[in-house]
Amino acid sequence: MVVYHKRFLLWWGLGLFLCKLGSRRQLDYQFASDGTEVLENLNRLAGTAQVSSPVNQTLEYFLKKIDTGSLASLRQKMVQRLIRMKALDPARLQGRFLVLIDGSGYLVFGQRHCDACLTQRHGETTVYMHQVLEAKLLGPGETVISIATEFIDNHDVQAASKGASQEQVKQDCELKALRRLLARLRAEFPQVRICLGGDGLHACGEGFQIAKDYKCDFIYTFQPGRLPALWQEFQGLLRLCPEQQVVWMTPQGVRQVYRWVNGLRYTDSDGRDWSFHAILCTETKPDGSVSEWSWVTSLDVSHQTVVEVATRGGRARWRIENEGFNTQKNSGLNLEHAYSHRCWASYYYLLQIAHLLLQLVEKGSLLLHLAQEQGQRSALELYGSLKNMAQRLLDSLRYRHWPDEVFDRAGAVPIQIRLDSS
Ligand SMILES: [Zn+2]
Repeated sequence: MVVYHKRFLLWWGLGLFLCKLGSRRQLDYQFASDGTEVLENLNRLAGTAQVSSPVNQTLEYFLKKIDTGSLASLRQKMVQRLIRMKALDPARLQGRFLVLIDGSGYLVFGQRHCDACLTQRHGETTVYMHQVLEAKLLGPGETVISIATEFIDNHDVQAASKGASQEQVKQDCELKALRRLLARLRAEFPQVRICLGGDGLHACGEGFQIAKDYKCDFIYTFQPGRLPALWQEFQGLLRLCPEQQVVWMTPQGVRQVYRWVNGLRYTDSDGRDWSFHAILCTETKPDGSVSEWSWVTSLDVSHQTVVEVATRGGRARWRIENEGFNTQKNSGLNLEHAYSHRCWASYYYLLQIAHLLLQLVEKGSLLLHLAQEQGQRSALELYGSLKNMAQRLLDSLRYRHWPDEVFDRAGAVPIQIRLDSS
């Protein structure tokens, strides 16, 4: 019997995502040891001395044995490290890290696949799915870092009140999951100053209470339809303070008018009183089209801060969709692929950890310098695509005996990966 060290199996499993192999079976083909340097390179990376390669079932067996909590705590240690070394500091907004909250369905099956599946009817057919609520920290240089994960399952739906609309059930489930998520996030990162970024669903009594309970600031989308009476009051108050306005022309020639009200008061359905600031941004494009955006926030809003809060806080929301979920679904990380029917949560964490490592490589300063030396503006430009970068990594892992100096910890100390976009 061959015994594999857990460090080796962990690197082997991360390799699935780092090299964007797309499916677990590919590990057996692409990471085969015969005639390649794979085993030797991974051994040195993991500090192990395995004499043969595992098969993908070995990884499955290992993940079944370990708890997802240990993978979550590995992610926590990595993020803690980045925070402690201040690598993420350039992205702070009023001293806080912006942590975007968003849910996404990511596994969909034609048949019930486990007890926890959520069900959704589409006409005659029923689909079974798994949903996840993510907290992603917006880092510098367009990095989006997963820092807390909560799986939403049918226990949340069953607990929702009878007769509630689908929209209410969705809101109820996500807010319950958010409370669990923040309890864990606060246990893991007790001191970190956080501003939660949420959509209109979070702008409600429970959304404000959760932020308060877990000592977070917030910036939530203010949707007129969700809080109609408060929206009316906001419009009325805006007319009373015309001097609270900043006009901003973007480099693309978009004219943005920011108006705001400080200390807007709101009593929620449970009789709790809240006070926060509200911002309205009216945007006119060079072609004359007009759009409106608004948010409620506990961050400081004034002539000096309104543009920054709205652009870096409010409008950054698309980044969780775009650079978070979409990248994980479409860049070869294959978020929506069922890597396993039993250990799907473990593969989810492995993907998040690998994506963090990939972003340090793809968006960090080391490859940027290399690209600049070759007359290119970014690592992406140097390699042509993220897929090509993963292919190069796989080529290197397979055919290159990585030089000893890359494993020299003392020698690595002076090397810094910077993420500032400037
Ligand atoms: Zn299931």
